[in-house]
This record gives sequence, structure tokens and C-alpha cells, in this order.
Amino acid sequence: MDSKLILYNTLTRRKQEFEPLHPPFVGLYVCGPTVYGDPHLGHARPAITFDLLFRYLRAAGYKVRYVRNITDVGHLENDADSGEDKIAKKARLEELEPMEVAQYYTNRYHDAMQRLNVLPPSIEPHASGHIIEQIAMIQKILDHGFAYISNGSVYFDVEAYNKKYHYGKLSGRVLDEMMSHTRTLDGQEDKRNPFDFALWKKAAPEHIMRWPSPWSDGFPGWHMECSAMSTRYLGETFDIHGGGMDLMFPHHECEIAQSTAACGHDSARYWMHNNMITINEQKMGKSLGNFITLEELMTGNHKLLAQPYSPMTIRFFVLQAHYRSTLDFSNDALQAAEKGYERLMKGVSTLNKLQSSATSSIDISGLETRLTAAMDDDLNSPIVISELFECVRMINQIHDGKQTISDEDLTELKRVIHLFVFDILGLRDDLQNDNSELLSSVMDIVLRIRQDAKQAKDWTTSDKIRNELSAIGIKVKDSKEGSDWECE
Ligand code: ZN
Repeated sequence: MDSKLILYNTLTRRKQEFEPLHPPFVGLYVCGPTVYGDPHLGHARPAITFDLLFRYLRAAGYKVRYVRNITDVGHLENDADSGEDKIAKKARLEELEPMEVAQYYTNRYHDAMQRLNVLPPSIEPHASGHIIEQIAMIQKILDHGFAYISNGSVYFDVEAYNKKYHYGKLSGRVLDEMMSHTRTLDGQEDKRNPFDFALWKKAAPEHIMRWPSPWSDGFPGWHMECSAMSTRYLGETFDIHGGGMDLMFPHHECEIAQSTAACGHDSARYWMHNNMITINEQKMGKSLGNFITLEELMTGNHKLLAQPYSPMTIRFFVLQAHYRSTLDFSNDALQAAEKGYERLMKGVSTLNKLQSSATSSIDISGLETRLTAAMDDDLNSPIVISELFECVRMINQIHDGKQTISDEDLTELKRVIHLFVFDILGLRDDLQNDNSELLSSVMDIVLRIRQDAKQAKDWTTSDKIRNELSAIGIKVKDSKEGSDWECE
């Protein structure tokens, strides 16, 4: 595959040719979930977006080290610097050890990702497993004069940083404007400025998750883990950092500031952000009653759902929109995705059954180039899907005898379609599997009827069933134990 990948870089706000630092190696860091609740619709989009990137980079010949973290400590309520730790709160309510909560929801997340056919990352580090790295990085930031200690906690000094570097370079926020809009909040008296953020927090006596540090028994600030773990596994400078648009500020802005304050330069060269999923044009939120978990989506057990949706329907739904566009969830949109997915899978299954002719009446020479060009254009999966639908139309015409395909073209068509449908878009033919389950249930019924006929010595019926099954390629084998069947 001859690829020239162009990516939209959120940092420079323009499309740029992707040139890795050390080809063929690519370092990719993506912010993973905070594991305190069931994975929901909002988790599906970043997971599938960066899975698409991971798969495409690999198909283009890169060796990708994909790091996606698990946040199991330090993420406080309302993404703020005060309040309860999200995991500790859940543990308190359920009378569990915080790590039991984290492990349970990590398993649930992995299970959902597997069903969505999202590949596991190369490394999945946990924030709680990298306290030492975080403390070392905080110390560096302190040594460089961009942080201060206050009552056992350590805060990032945004004003001092902004005098030398640029705070707001990713999100486009301007510090002067932020200063005039923020007021001192309760519980933040330790900070010099309300927009300073915690690198290390001294733990209150009732706080369970705590570690010793030079400053106090406490825990790291939420943004710290990603700076420390990306540096640990990908180096001080690496290729791509990804995440949802909702993480751009404050999380990613603070990550950039921390890495720059510690190392003297920015960490990631390309920043990529996927847009959000809305539900009937509204932001998803527990308080709005439109919060849908992936489990509910797959079982249909939610008042907003007209039916259950299969994991591949959800994946297809996400891929049908460009990752930087908004994506609105509705039953109509999901039902359309279900039909689209089925049409594509039926096309692939027809392709596998096509007979070749001496010559081709169709032209497939530009197909791979067009599909690659669409992916190279900032991962334009909707264009890839519409090209694939064109292929399905062509496949059906060949199947109906309206067009012909040579043996050589058929082999090539199969290779290209399999590469893009299964390896790059990461779809899985669950339809085929569903049908085989259905077929085996139907065959159980048919063979039971034949068994009844045999017992009643109705040989005409029993032979008729066997012969007619044989005519459609199903061979019935009789033995002392009963009857079995197989497809020829
Ligand atoms: Zn992060």
C-alpha cells in the first residue's frame, strides 16, 4: 500500500503531512478511560477512532507503539482540583477497595472493546503504577521554577510558565481572559491563582488512595499521569497524542504545560481530537437522563432505545462519520447503520462466492488508490465506506451476470476489500456467525421432524428431506446415535 498520510493537527490547526520522528516506528499515546463506571457510548468514539488510526498506520507499514492509559487515581469529581476521587467515591458507596472498583470496570471496558473489535494497545499503563515517575516529573517542574509547594500540595504556576512559554497554545484560550473570568473557589485557598492546577495533592485524613512523597502523603493531580507515562514509554518527544475533544482543556493543555516545564519542549508533535457523540442533539449526561452504556445499547435495555444494536452496528455507525464531525445518536441513525453494515457484509459474502470469467467487463485498477487516498485524507472513513458500497453494487452485478470479472481481478478485488473492510475499518462479519447459529437451530428442527417421520415409518418424507437438503449442499449422515449434518 502506497500511503501519504495527511492528518489534521489540533496544535497547528491545519492538515499536515504525517512524518514520524523515527520511521518506521510511530509512538502513539491516547488518553484512556477513568475506570469508575460502566463503559458508555462516549467511550466508543475515541476507542474506535484511534483504533482506526492504529490499524491504518500498521497497514501502511509502520511499527506502532500504542500506549493507552487506565486512570485509576487522581481524577476528581467535576474534573476539578477539589472534591472526592471518582474511584474512591464509588468504592465508598459500594463498600469495596478502590482497586476492586478499578479492576472491575477495567475488565468491563476490555470486554466492551473486544466486542467492538477494538485492538488492545501495545502498552496499557495504570496511573497508580507510575507514582514514582509522576513524583520525579513534579520535582523537575519545581526545580525549573514552574511550580510551588503550598500546605503539602504542589501546584503548577501558570503565570510563571506563561511568561516563558505559551499557556493556551492547544485550546486557544488566552490567560488574560481566563484571569478576568475566574473567581477564587472554595477549597482552593492553597492556590496562588484559581487557574493554577494541582500536580500533587495532600490527602485529607479520610482519603484512602495515598502515597508518600517529598511534600506530603497524597496523590498526583489528574493531568500528571499522562505526561509521566507518555514520557516513560514513548520518550520526551513522540509522534501522536490523541483523545476526545472534551479533554483538550484543561487536561491536554495542562499536559503540554507540564511536559514543557519539565523537559523544556513540547512532547507530542501531532495532536488529534475526535468530536463528541450527542444524543438527539443533546450532550450526553447522567443528569439529562440520556446516558447510555454500551451494555444497554447492545441489549436494548434503555428507554431511549427502540431495539438492541449489535457491536458491529455501533462500530459502523461511528465509522460512517468523519472523526472530527459531530455524530448524533438516534434510533433512525442506528437503524440506518445496521442496514448499511448488513449490506456491506452481504456484499463481502457474495464476493467470496463469485465465479470468474475469461475477461473482466469492470475496471478495478484505481480502487486501492482511491481507498488509500480517502484514508490518507485525515482518515476519511465515510468516503471509504461509500467507495465500498460502490464495490458492493459491482459485486452484485457480477453475481447477477450483468458484468464479468477475470480470475486475476477477482483475486485483487478480494484482497483490497478484505484489507479495507476487516483490517483497516476493523469490521467483523458477525452476520455470517449469526446466520450459522440460526442455521444450526433450523437444522435441529428439520432433523427432529425427519426423525419423527422415520419412527412413523414415513420413508417418503424422511427421504424427501434428506434429498432436498442434499440438493442445496447439506449432507445428512445417519448413525446409531441419530442424524448429523454438514455443509458440503
Ligand atoms: Zn490523559
